[in-house]
Amino acid sequence: MKILSISTRSDELEFYLFEMDNSTIVTKGTFSRISLEDSYYTISFNSEKITEHIIVKNYDDVVNILLDKLNVLNIISSSFDIKGIGFRVVHGGSKYTESVFINDKVIQDVNDLSEFAPLYNDSISMAMRSFKKILPDTPMVAVFDTAFNQTIAEENYLYPVPLDWYEKYGIRKYGFYGTSHKYVTQKVSELLDRDNFKLISCHLGNGGSVSAIENMKVVDTSMGFTPLSGIMMGTRSGDIDPSIIPYIMKKEGLNVGEVLDELNNNSGVYGLSQYSGDMREILEECDKGNVKTIMAKNKFVRSVADYIGKYYVLLGGVDVIVFTAGIGENSVQIRREICEKLACFGVKIDLDLNNNCGEIVKISTNKSKVQVYVIPTEEELMVALDTEKLIKNR
Ligand code: AMP
Repeated sequence: MKILSISTRSDELEFYLFEMDNSTIVTKGTFSRISLEDSYYTISFNSEKITEHIIVKNYDDVVNILLDKLNVLNIISSSFDIKGIGFRVVHGGSKYTESVFINDKVIQDVNDLSEFAPLYNDSISMAMRSFKKILPDTPMVAVFDTAFNQTIAEENYLYPVPLDWYEKYGIRKYGFYGTSHKYVTQKVSELLDRDNFKLISCHLGNGGSVSAIENMKVVDTSMGFTPLSGIMMGTRSGDIDPSIIPYIMKKEGLNVGEVLDELNNNSGVYGLSQYSGDMREILEECDKGNVKTIMAKNKFVRSVADYIGKYYVLLGGVDVIVFTAGIGENSVQIRREICEKLACFGVKIDLDLNNNCGEIVKISTNKSKVQVYVIPTEEELMVALDTEKLIKNR
């Protein structure tokens, strides 16, 4: 059974075609600069990557070019070979607590939430419309990044601001990267062969999110109303005092949008190091003794450890800590430095095991009071799995 998994950001669309029978990627690729000059797509198939510069005016073009290419490469013999399409939706508001089949109402709801997730919700709703128009008989499913966080209790999702703001405008914590945390939670359940455990899942990539999970349900998560809050990230600030915003607007003569742009794109590891938001580059520079990159790296480690400490208290202890995403899966040094700060909780990692990257591995010692795992995340597969599940249960 072949399932297509789609995600978008602004003018870029990423696709993965999975063979669900063995959970393998048949092909994957991206469409870039959709509706702009110099648009192009890439497709990887049989260990070859093809790039073609072609006019992609809109999402109808994306669908038509993609189907044509899949046919030409003999990946599918007709569009009927694609048994379902899953769309990763960044924001589902309070309404969507689980994945749903897509209809016109769902597409409209997703589009209406664009204000909460600009760049993401508007582009994915456009993609949904085009796929639905061109493939009307193919089952399509929306998988929400916020859905897994819908088990968070009021006490944890409300901000201590006037309650009217929540009641009138939906201002509350939504949390993001739910698809990744859900995947990790299911893997931990398989590894431990049980559903009752306390887990702190650390998704550390360019964006980052730490979640506290108990008995398969999210109790709290670090991102909030938008993906700007929580831990320090590659270019995003994470939590800061909101009074900084009007102060810096006045001092630098910026408007709100410009300050938000600074907080989203010129802050975090990049902003502090004044060098890069890419952790690999930061670590290389740290080795050369660059004090600003060392300070930024240290603050990143501190910020993650602080959230783990907070969630240790919230959960009343923890059975498993997981590291995932680009930094979590691949940086031996960052994992070691974070775990060193958790020694007070009885966390002990085996430095040899910690050298393993890119696969599921337990890096804690037998003496450790908390089991620590590296689990590569598979968000695109998770979207496809949810799609398959809904189709099979229909
Ligand atoms: P992601 O957003 O999940 O793709 O993660 C991207 C981040 O992972 C970037 O900051 C990369 O520099 C970082 N990353 C990937 N591989 C490594 C590595 N081997 N060591 C340190 N950071 C890494």
